[in-house]
Amino acid sequence: ERVYRVTASAVGRNTGLYVMVFKDQSEARRIDRMRADFIANASHELRTPLASVSGFIETLRGPARDDVAAREQFLQIMQAQTARMARLIDDLLSLSRLEMKPYFRTGAKVELKDVLDSVIASLAPLAADSEVVIERDFSDTASAVFGDRDELIQVFENLVENACKYGQKGGRVVVSVAGPEADPEGETTVTVRDFGPGIPEEHIPRVTERFYRIDAETSRAQKGTGLGLAIVKHILTRHKAWLSISSKLGEGAAFTVHFPPE
Ligand code: ADP
Repeated sequence: ERVYRVTASAVGRNTGLYVMVFKDQSEARRIDRMRADFIANASHELRTPLASVSGFIETLRGPARDDVAAREQFLQIMQAQTARMARLIDDLLSLSRLEMKPYFRTGAKVELKDVLDSVIASLAPLAADSEVVIERDFSDTASAVFGDRDELIQVFENLVENACKYGQKGGRVVVSVAGPEADPEGETTVTVRDFGPGIPEEHIPRVTERFYRIDAETSRAQKGTGLGLAIVKHILTRHKAWLSISSKLGEGAAFTVHFPPE
């Protein structure tokens, strides 16, 4: 079933010329449904830790009132759950901010080396926790691209963080840059590669969807919100850049960001 909504808009003030714009209304309905799904998912994700905190408060006021050991343990869980809600809210705010400014205007020259060094430095504690060694496979004169430094940091933080979380424990994560001279299309690319279990082919097209996880339990255990790659995709679109993902099961995954030539 296809329903069309017809809107007319004037082109030029005095020409009297009108253009009919046909919009597929089933597309509008699909977007409405996606929005409703998104709100339902977000509410569910927030409700779960909230229910847990609320349950522990009740236990602490009742049966566990005088149990000092239990109290400490419950408080720790409650702290972890509130931290989880905070991460989720931060990611939701990031997404909605990005949606309010879909087009990128003020691009400045951003040195990829600076961005990647800063990402690798800020993820050192996570890498140490996962016993992962992050290797820098780029020179000190790696390429520059046009964009927003903070947003690009967010992109590579998400990718390197995922490589540490879902890659091989005790393994390597390699961050490499290839300049435009190396590419027939003149693209500058940054690849984040891990050597973990990889991503089954059928999941690859879907991992950038909001709240899509291959294994929700692992994602939660890894402090994931399911929104990281959706944020990455938004930021890259704003930069007219794009993401490619390749993976061989058991051998790891590679996420490549492609920046087109200026
Ligand atoms: P999360 O917060 O769950 O990490 P993301 O949007 O960052 O959410 O990633 C979505 C899902 O994609 C993850 O839950 C995980 O299942 C999968 N994934 C992401 N990166 C990798 C990787 N390097 N190797 C294997 N799976 C990955």
